[in-house]
Amino acid sequence: MPLTVPDSDLIIRGGTVATAGGSAECDLGVTGGKISQIGGALRGGRELDATGALVLPGALDMHVHLSPPPHRPGTPTWVDDFGTGSAAAMAGGVTTIGNMTFPAEGESLHEALDRDHIAARALAAVDYVLHPVLAWPVAEALAELPRLAAADYLSLKLFMVDQEFESQAEAMIEAVRIAGQHGMLTLIHCEDGALVRFAGERLLRAGRGGLADWAASRPVAAERAAVERAVAICEATGSPIYIVHLSSRAALRAARRGRARGLPVFIETRPLYLYLTSAALAEPDGARLIGAPPLREPADVKALWAGLADGTVDALGSDHAPWRLADKLDPAQDVTTARQGVADLETMMPMLFSAGVRTGRISLSRFVSLTSTNPARLFGLFPRKGTIAVGSDADLVVLDPNQRRTIDGRSMRSRSGYSAYDGTEVYGWPRYTISRGDVVLEDGQVLAEPGRGQWLPMAGTAGR
Ligand SMILES: [Zn+2]
Repeated sequence: MPLTVPDSDLIIRGGTVATAGGSAECDLGVTGGKISQIGGALRGGRELDATGALVLPGALDMHVHLSPPPHRPGTPTWVDDFGTGSAAAMAGGVTTIGNMTFPAEGESLHEALDRDHIAARALAAVDYVLHPVLAWPVAEALAELPRLAAADYLSLKLFMVDQEFESQAEAMIEAVRIAGQHGMLTLIHCEDGALVRFAGERLLRAGRGGLADWAASRPVAAERAAVERAVAICEATGSPIYIVHLSSRAALRAARRGRARGLPVFIETRPLYLYLTSAALAEPDGARLIGAPPLREPADVKALWAGLADGTVDALGSDHAPWRLADKLDPAQDVTTARQGVADLETMMPMLFSAGVRTGRISLSRFVSLTSTNPARLFGLFPRKGTIAVGSDADLVVLDPNQRRTIDGRSMRSRSGYSAYDGTEVYGWPRYTISRGDVVLEDGQVLAEPGRGQWLPMAGTAGR
């Protein structure tokens, strides 16, 4: 061995290294938290055995909720914070998260971000970005956008389903324009608020307002109409948009038509829609699966899988928004007040591997694109994140494709205490998760110190 080979801090031996571009058997060297060598003679400190395993870039989950939305004190809300959320992430092979940061009423976007920065600095163990939520498009908030962009916050989240979107539509559209002009990517929850509220009130009047009728309260038409409007907003403003948690075939077609015209429309789907249908919502305790949009029909599931395989869908986002089961099933809730969201950070990557790659529905390189490379590119984090290349952060998952587990939310890291997939047999779990060269998961144990996560400035999103 030539003496010129520098020592690595960490060597990952014997695995199959896979990126969005392809895969090959080779060893990896990590130095100073970055990938320092791919293949060739390696020597140095600690060695990890990746024999029989895949070595993948860590997943980026750009859609999680680890800080609460505005809510009345004493009422239930999402139960994870940056600490438990990070633990779930590491256990599931996710090394970068994107958190939705909600301002309280009267709070500026900067103040909300500062608040979440304090929480994340104390507890986050994986790297993170914070997406500011524009709930009230007042002049002061619009004026903040260029300053946020200058500080490398290049994302903005809007909820088309909110009453405020309808009543302040011009200001919301202006926000999308300003965001795009300053290189920001606008994330949009696409459901038409008026149609959703109409459907919910109608069910209540008919005595069908219980949680079992959740799917009927959020019709596909409301999603399709909102996606069409979002595409039109993209066209009118020239600003790129990222449709979060797209759920239906009709909405996918609407987004695809926009893309076919060359518009910068990007599409995220949520894992839940790939494995479950609305039939599960009508079963006993089906309310545990409530999220918005709701679970759809088998034809929608099929269309989403086709979209994953052909590249129409750009990314997967867990929309990790966990509740305790009792709060979720609370019979005092109805279709207009239902508690939305489930825990999915720990299960997103293994479930997609098991149901997607293992079955041959998507290729391994497509899997890497969906879970890592595409979100890194869209959110201005590539090539620091999202690939395995010399100089990139050593954020890696050594995934054992033959490791089988039956999902049991009680033993997982989220405080919600249950999983939407409880009882499902899943192949493909992390043997090791590595974040900036630190082994943060080993033998099923999370080893990271709370607070070791770093905030990531964005550069060159899809908007630039
Ligand atoms: Zn969400």
